[in-house]
Amino acid sequence: MGAGRSRHKPFIPKHLGAPPFSRFFVAMPEIPCYTMPMLTTTRYKKSIKPVPSDHVFMLKPGSNNKKLGFVVSKGKHKGKRIYSLTLPERETCPRSCHHWDDCYGNNMPFAVRYSVSDWEAFVGRLEYEIATLLEKHKHGILIRLHVLGDFFSSDYIRFWDGLLSFYGDSLAVYGYTAHNPGSKLGVLVGRLNLTYPERCEIRYSHGANYNRLFDQRFAAEESFDGDSFDCPEQTGKVKDCASCGLCWEATKTVRFLTH
Ligand code: SF4
Repeated sequence: MGAGRSRHKPFIPKHLGAPPFSRFFVAMPEIPCYTMPMLTTTRYKKSIKPVPSDHVFMLKPGSNNKKLGFVVSKGKHKGKRIYSLTLPERETCPRSCHHWDDCYGNNMPFAVRYSVSDWEAFVGRLEYEIATLLEKHKHGILIRLHVLGDFFSSDYIRFWDGLLSFYGDSLAVYGYTAHNPGSKLGVLVGRLNLTYPERCEIRYSHGANYNRLFDQRFAAEESFDGDSFDCPEQTGKVKDCASCGLCWEATKTVRFLTH
């Protein structure tokens, strides 16, 4: 220590200026601050395919999906073949979905999602595929809407209305929607259920009890403690949806283990 300096005063070289500069400050390299952009589509953009024009169908047989199964073995749709449609998650979903960030599509890198951006090609192709499958399956088909994605517009809901009306008993649909029952598209989905009570069963993905007045049915998470039953495929009591059928037969809320 040089002469004249106090033992108790910190030594600050003159060129560093006056306090509050700290002798212990170490300049860090500049690190840009990244904020995570909000996801508005699937994480797996390469999995989004354009509407096909060849032999590859957008409607996939349930036999490709262990949970779905293929031939319905009991209930009102006995004999129908299950097919499923997968759309890009988030792009086609309501922003209000409480699984926006942790959508189970986040764990499905290999699922093929079909683009809906070319509306005319999309609905034209779906119509063609349904007509072709109904030619092939005399007992009819039951379509799971949607493995990923949701009803994305009122025109799309009306499109299904037209198909269900045109094909009658041979065509049925079931599935789940994140739309709130009171929202614009949620109301239209409810009307579709009411118009075709035997052939259209789209459950609202919300924790609520069956609403007898509006015939609204729900699909809840495992935290729901109202009147419900656990999905028997998840509890190992049935092999697949084709041998269960409760989603389209039962009025009670189905409860799923949280993914
Ligand atoms: S309750 Fe039955 S039909 Fe519904 S998802 Fe589970 S296995 Fe499939």
